Amino acid sequence: MKDTQRTLPSHKNVALVAHDHKKEQLLEWVSSHAEELKLHHLYATGTTGTMLSRKVGLPVRCLLSGPMGGDQQLGALIAEGKIDVLIFFWDPLNAVPHDPDVKALLRLATVWNIPVATNIATADMLMNSAQMSRDFSIRIPDYEGYLKERTGE
Ligand code: PGA
Repeated sequence: MKDTQRTLPSHKNVALVAHDHKKEQLLEWVSSHAEELKLHHLYATGTTGTMLSRKVGLPVRCLLSGPMGGDQQLGALIAEGKIDVLIFFWDPLNAVPHDPDVKALLRLATVWNIPVATNIATADMLMNSAQMSRDFSIRIPDYEGYLKERTGE
């Protein structure tokens, strides 16, 4: 499949998700980067987002709770080009009931080539990157071309 380009804007749509054992870690991380994160538009799965807006006081657009469909909602937004960065502290030590949705979310983030952080070190590097607050061009699948190939036009 061919690629094309998409520009991630300087004010990015940032999705925040944490599994239950990782929520404290994400809350702490968001608190320590609250000033930078204020410049962006924040999205989160239901529980994560509610805790973030209550405890850190940042405006967050809350989707459904992850196991109830929130991961899938985020995946759909990524496929539509409406999420620019994913910070997803998933739990490598405990099973979750919605494992297929977790895989699907990570898969779509890879398909659409958005920056993803799944641990603090990468999240820190992302936030410290100058590209976070600038336009940043990424390669994405050429969907029109993909459709043409499949429909034989
Ligand atoms: P939650 O969902 O923020 O509603 O807990 C997170 C997840 O497990 O995807």
